[in-house]
Amino acid sequence: MSTPPTSARVPSTNPRVSRTNPRILRMSTLFLRTLREDPADAEVPSHRLLVRAGYVRRAAPGIYTWLPLGLRVLRNVESIIREEMDAIGAQELSFPALLPREPYEASNRWTTYGNGIFRVQDRKGADYLLGPTHEEMFTLAVKDLYSSYKDLPVWLYQIQTKYRDEARPRAGVLRGREFVMKDSYSFDVSDEGLDRSYAAHRAAYVKTFDRLGFDYVIVKATSGAMGGSRSEEFLAKAEVGEDTYVRCTSCDYAANVEAVAVRVPAPVPYDDLPPAHAEATPDTPTIETLVDHLNETFPRKDRPWSAGDTLKNVLVMLKHPDGRREPLAIGLPGDRDVDAKRLEGQLEPIEVEPMSEADLAQHPVLVRGYIGPGVLGERRGSKIRYLVDPRVSEGTRWVTGADTKGSHVLDLVVGRDFTPDGTVEAADVRDGDACPNCAEGVLETARGIEMGHIFQLGRWFAEALDLRVLDENGKLVTVTMGSYGIGVTRAVAAIAESNHDELGLVWPREIAPAGVHLVATGKDQAVFDTAESLAGELAARGIEVLLDDRQKVSPGVKFKDAELVGIPTIVVVGKGLADGVVEVKDRATGDREDVAVASAADHVARLVRGA
Ligand code: ATP
Ligand code: MG
Repeated sequence: MSTPPTSARVPSTNPRVSRTNPRILRMSTLFLRTLREDPADAEVPSHRLLVRAGYVRRAAPGIYTWLPLGLRVLRNVESIIREEMDAIGAQELSFPALLPREPYEASNRWTTYGNGIFRVQDRKGADYLLGPTHEEMFTLAVKDLYSSYKDLPVWLYQIQTKYRDEARPRAGVLRGREFVMKDSYSFDVSDEGLDRSYAAHRAAYVKTFDRLGFDYVIVKATSGAMGGSRSEEFLAKAEVGEDTYVRCTSCDYAANVEAVAVRVPAPVPYDDLPPAHAEATPDTPTIETLVDHLNETFPRKDRPWSAGDTLKNVLVMLKHPDGRREPLAIGLPGDRDVDAKRLEGQLEPIEVEPMSEADLAQHPVLVRGYIGPGVLGERRGSKIRYLVDPRVSEGTRWVTGADTKGSHVLDLVVGRDFTPDGTVEAADVRDGDACPNCAEGVLETARGIEMGHIFQLGRWFAEALDLRVLDENGKLVTVTMGSYGIGVTRAVAAIAESNHDELGLVWPREIAPAGVHLVATGKDQAVFDTAESLAGELAARGIEVLLDDRQKVSPGVKFKDAELVGIPTIVVVGKGLADGVVEVKDRATGDREDVAVASAADHVARLVRGA
């Protein structure tokens, strides 16, 4: 770099940029254009409003630019997270986003991430990736610097940009391909140490999310391919969320549906049951047609047949990260569907695809519409692995396909007539399902946005990358890790999602891009002068002011912008000035009051500080 020109010390000559007070943002010069119309590609309110209010702009699919107002909000969210992480004694560092291939090769994630990561090459042809998450780097950093149990525990975190080539980037910054994450890791020698580290992070997360200002739930979660024991997610309650969670109506059980484990029924005796028998059931390729046929031709004495009496067999293709494809059969009660997310949650990083006509044609023993346990299973005709819902348990009795067109088997008993290769949690979870945790309650489902995930990672990465330290007895032991993430850019969207009305955004105070939105309206210069000096007084009290000092912009436009931008306190210097008052308005409630100009700064300062 050449020597900096001396102009750095010369005051700006740009007449449009005021350098008088950094706490005052002026609408006359602020790099901002609000939009009256919703952007065409925005499906959820937070995305619409963040674009319309001039917080973010799309640069490419799933990739966003943060404009000055948006960047302030993002920084405020970051500050809250940073304060709470620092408060428990976690130490901030920062890893590069551009990472070498080798550590990800050692953990096998170069392969298992599949299409999910951005890969790049340098001029020599060496492979790099843009970090989707940094377990490898954290593990190697601790291995690099530490060698003894005396160094542990240590808690490290960063607030850093991640890259993931998401299959479905969505809803603006809610699911981006470039996004900011806070990720921390704890390193301990013992399981008890890990429990303490986990508890400290959990407590910090509760404080953080309380401050961020949205309604959230803490739910049990799966911990993915890496195993580990405790795993919880912090979900923002939101209709637009991609996650479904359940809560028990009676006990405190709450879980992501991906983590719900159906209660396994006790085995029932089947000695007195009739033997299985195949019956002609012409033209019954669907559950509905089958149930109708059963009720007409084989009526039950106790009650009518229903879909739940049938065993439905669904075939899918598993796509392994190395490209290998493998069929899988899933057996479940006929009144349930396969929930692909639940299935994928357990098979991660394997992806699940429906079985195509061509795939089906590879297995002539499979008779579409009449597929049954007669051919399913690793040791049966199809050689296809056959996993069943836990409700398809020992001694239960089913009607299912007889592997011949137009025929079904009745009274087929699990454990007597067939034994599946195992069980799988793939059936959808519904309102009213029995609670897996207590005897009385039932489950209620709702939707949420995953804001944070804490889990006990255990020794997976430490083993893969050989992170060991000497214990008290001079013996090498493998370190155990906890993993704790928060979606920082996603939090901005989630906060917007739960804090808006039909007019625009309504930020919680700690998040808002400024403390006060001060609007000068009218043609009178005195209005602008008073607004200017009030802004100065507020700034002197440490309050950041967004000052609408635009001349020749109508009051209506200014009010609309103030409502759209969403700073919680709006102060209007206008008509009232003739009577010596300004109007102070609460953006959330719409309440207004007149306050004497002379006491306005103190009054507003108190409001903003929440005193
Ligand atoms: P999701 O299931 O939503 O894809 P994930 O399980 O892949 O999330 P983690 O790898 O645990 O997420 O990342 C930690 C946090 O980062 C998540 O809890 C979420 O808040 C955030 N996050 C993950 N992916 C994205 C994304 N594409 N855009 C914005 N934030 C994200
Ligand atoms: Mg993800």
